Amino acid sequence: MHSQNTGSAHKSLSVLPSATGPSSAPTVTPHTKPPVDPATLRHKDLKRGRFWAHIPAYADIDEETFLDHKWQSKHTITNVDKLLAAVRGIAAAGEAFLQDAAEGFAKAPMSVRVTPYLLSLIDWNDPYNDPLRIQFIPLASRLLPDHPQLGLDSLHEMADAPVPGLTHRYPDKALFLPLDTCPVYCRFCTRSYAIGLDTNLVEKVTLHVNEERWRKAFEYIASRPELEDIVISGGDAYNLRAQQIREIGETLLNMPNVRRMRYATKGPAVMPQKILTDTAWLDALTAVVELGRRLHKEVVLHTHFNHPNEITSHTEQAMNRLMERGIFVRNQSVLQRCVNDTPETMSLLVKRLGHVNVHPYYVYVHDLVKGVEDLRTTLKTAIDIEKHVRGSTAGFNTPTFVVDAPGGGGKRDAHSFEHYNRTTGISVYTAPSVKPGQQFFYFDPIDLLPEEGRARWADAAEHPRMIEEARAAAVASLR
Ligand SMILES: *Cc1c(COP(=O)(O)O)cnc(C)c1O
Ligand code: SF4
Repeated sequence: MHSQNTGSAHKSLSVLPSATGPSSAPTVTPHTKPPVDPATLRHKDLKRGRFWAHIPAYADIDEETFLDHKWQSKHTITNVDKLLAAVRGIAAAGEAFLQDAAEGFAKAPMSVRVTPYLLSLIDWNDPYNDPLRIQFIPLASRLLPDHPQLGLDSLHEMADAPVPGLTHRYPDKALFLPLDTCPVYCRFCTRSYAIGLDTNLVEKVTLHVNEERWRKAFEYIASRPELEDIVISGGDAYNLRAQQIREIGETLLNMPNVRRMRYATKGPAVMPQKILTDTAWLDALTAVVELGRRLHKEVVLHTHFNHPNEITSHTEQAMNRLMERGIFVRNQSVLQRCVNDTPETMSLLVKRLGHVNVHPYYVYVHDLVKGVEDLRTTLKTAIDIEKHVRGSTAGFNTPTFVVDAPGGGGKRDAHSFEHYNRTTGISVYTAPSVKPGQQFFYFDPIDLLPEEGRARWADAAEHPRMIEEARAAAVASLR
């Protein structure tokens, strides 16, 4: 399944010029590589044309309408019945699939929110295996029990927050959550403790747009000279009004201590139309980037593509627009089982991102989040994929694979564990510059462990023993 084209055939193909006199025939240019297999250029093939026409409700929608962000927002689906109605008749497996999805949503930590663009990129002939369906539409039949070591807010974002919605974990950077809504809701969201509407599973912390809360966050940032880098996340910067983009940007850039800022948004992956047609929003972002440039401060956009199918000709147009405006874009992906957990898919994603001028920055090993155990995979998988991706394209377009250490250790290079037991699935990290002296534990999903590991997790008395073994092994490795 993971066969790689290693190009080992090159040995026989190169013809080295022999030592010849001045009058000899033209020399054959040495070929060090065989002709390329066109399949390896697939990253350039982007979906074009009226790909949304297979959804009955969009069959008559023309390109101009589909490209209008207002039409996309207005037709965004926010209720399970409407979502299922939109694909009734086209989803293979019919009513059984729809029933499975309805039950999946009833047990989910995230509420429903899907754009027409996203819905139309799902292959409804094979919804069980489609990588976008897997990310946005839970199926009860696929759910797995949570890992016993899992807690909501596993990253301790609330514990590290001096002001609600402002996490100051690392020495020189902070994470500001100005709002708690997004253009879509992703199953795998790390912030399911706050983002979106309450669900049967999760009653959310609220982080609404609130002048008073924002003022307190700004005061805190201004009061800490060590804070140089502010991540504006959420929620999602797409859902900030143009005026709010400016207000946050200007306020932060005018603080002498702030040197770098990033606006984080899932938007380009789920509604590139906004960049193409919401002029006020794009002008506001451009104005902040330009103010930053005049002040010699960096303002960039961070986005979140997880699968090559999320990058279409519309994405390319939108990213071209950002490039024309001098707006630099970086990408953070989440490694998810059956979505992007093979070397082929991840390599294609990385190459396609590079093709549309988006710089792959991080691939996160999936956080321990409630209700999505079926999406997590093992640390071993992450490490194996990284080996295949590195070397396939420019180093600056090669993402770092990270584990965001549960308990607030921050992002650690996946390879940098102090100890990793592939049988129990327990890995141990340290973070000397973030929380010196502490250990942080990550846990692989139990169903992917070898038999022996699964048996130990089946016995609750073994849990503290396995953790203690890992702790002791990590200490021993540090000596
Ligand atoms: C991810 C994150 C940041 C930014 O970290 P980088 O490694 O610089 O991308 C800052 N604060 C918090 C709490 C974060 O989770
Ligand atoms: S867009 Fe980001 S913050 Fe919003 S639901 Fe998805 S992962 Fe969570």
